Order: sequence, then structure tokens, then C-alpha cells
Amino acid sequence: MSKAFFIDTSRCTACRGCQVACKEWHELPATKTRQRGTHQNPVDLNPYTYKLVRFREHKVNDTVKWNFFPDQCRHCLEAPCKDVADNYVKGAVVRDEETGAIIYTELTKQLPNKAFEEMRSDCPYDIPRRHDGTGLIVKCDMCIDRVSNGLLPMCVKTCPSGAMNFGARKEMLNMANKRLAVLKREYPKAQLVDEDDVNVIYLITEKPEFYHDFVLAQGFGAITRKAALAKLVSPVKAQLRPLQNLFA
Ligand code: SF4
Ligand code: SF4
Ligand code: SF4
Repeated sequence: MSKAFFIDTSRCTACRGCQVACKEWHELPATKTRQRGTHQNPVDLNPYTYKLVRFREHKVNDTVKWNFFPDQCRHCLEAPCKDVADNYVKGAVVRDEETGAIIYTELTKQLPNKAFEEMRSDCPYDIPRRHDGTGLIVKCDMCIDRVSNGLLPMCVKTCPSGAMNFGARKEMLNMANKRLAVLKREYPKAQLVDEDDVNVIYLITEKPEFYHDFVLAQGFGAITRKAALAKLVSPVKAQLRPLQNLFA
């Protein structure tokens, strides 16, 4: 059964427990950083950081608001990074049929740099990173070793606030829609992000640009042909629905 995350940013306290737990489980070393006047650390995703709690400040009237966004691979339903990798080395990027996880394998080492650059630029969320030493291309793997043994992903297990949730896709979509309905009363701009295209469903309460540049799918690879077609067809479908009901 396809799995999904529901990440409720309204509950995130930016404790960074998920970020550290991800590193610990994957035995990833710390990276040297410097104080840049923000609590976000490191500055961006890197080959040793698959999960990054992003911070962004913005001003509303006279108040400064601080938004948190625990960023990671979205495990796209039709992953542009996999489409690119398949053109170069079959098996370098695979989809786990059981969960829907998009997994980068050891074969990513064989992908030329041109392929990596294409993967990164086609990723709608700017996720893949290449390890200079090993040549591996890396990102969140949905903690597939844990999930396939009935355990929760480490970031979900660690989150103390209820921001990180994981389970059957249908169940996560239900949870997300229920929470959205509640938050809409207080935050009219609240929305789910690209929920039809990804298995990591974020809920945000303000404009996407108040969190991070890649909250919504960006760029050429933003949506696959099939998803683009679905988006094109759905308003027409919605218009036809009353007619269909008439004849039902
Ligand atoms: Fe690939 Fe990017 Fe989608 Fe993750 S978010 S599956 S890296 S295209
Ligand atoms: Fe890291 Fe696992 Fe969470 Fe992905 S699912 S961000 S690999 S802890
Ligand atoms: Fe936010 Fe939960 Fe991560 Fe803490 S562990 S930063 S509350 S998502």
C-alpha cells in the first residue's frame, strides 16, 4: 500500500529533532557551518543532510513572523529525477512498489555529472545532492529499511509536536484535509502543497514564499506530463460533473 507523510508546519516548533534523528539513523557526520544570523543550520541540504528545518522571517504589519519548513524529498508519484536517471543508468533510481518511495541506489555512482545536474534541475523541489568523495547521489530514502520492517521513519518517530505523520497515503490525505479545514478558519491562506503529485504532503498556513523558495513545485520538471494533463482536465471534469449527475 502506498505510503505518505503528512507534515503539518503549523505544529512545527523548529526543535530540529527530525533533522538530527535523520543524520543519526543514516550515520551522517556533522558539517562545519558558521553563524549567519539565522537559526537555520546548515545553509542548505547537502550530501550529509537529507532533512533540513528551514527558517524564514517576514513582517506582517508591525510584527515579525517566523516560519519553519522541515524540508526533504517529496517522493513524487512520477519522479522527474527517476525519468532522468533512467535515460542514463537503469536501476540507479528505483521506486519501491510497496511504499512508493523513490530510492537512489549504489548505481548513482555511475551517473555522469551531466545526469546529476539534470536530475537536480528537473527536481521540482531542488533535492538531489552529489557526494564529491563517493560520487553517490543522495537524498531522503523514506527510511526504507525501517518502514519495510514495520517501523516509522526516524524523523516521524522523533517529532514531539505531531508535525510529522506517516502512514497509508489515503489515511494521510484524510488527516491533512481534516486539519486544513480546521486551520482555514484562522488562516484563510492555509493550503496543502501539491498533494496530488507527491507522497510528502505539507500543510502551510501562509504564502509559500514565506517559508522557502521550493515549497511549491518549481521549474521545467515541476509537474510531469501526466500530472500536467490531469491539471488541465480537472477543471473541465468539474464543469461536466453537474451534467453527469443529471444523467446518473
Ligand atoms: Fe526526485 Fe525531487 Fe521528486 Fe524527490 S522531490 S522524488 S528528488 S524529483
Ligand atoms: Fe531522513 Fe528517513 Fe525522515 Fe527521510 S524519512 S528525512 S531519510 S529520517
Ligand atoms: Fe518540527 Fe517536528 Fe522536526 Fe521538531 S521534529 S523541527 S517539531 S517537524
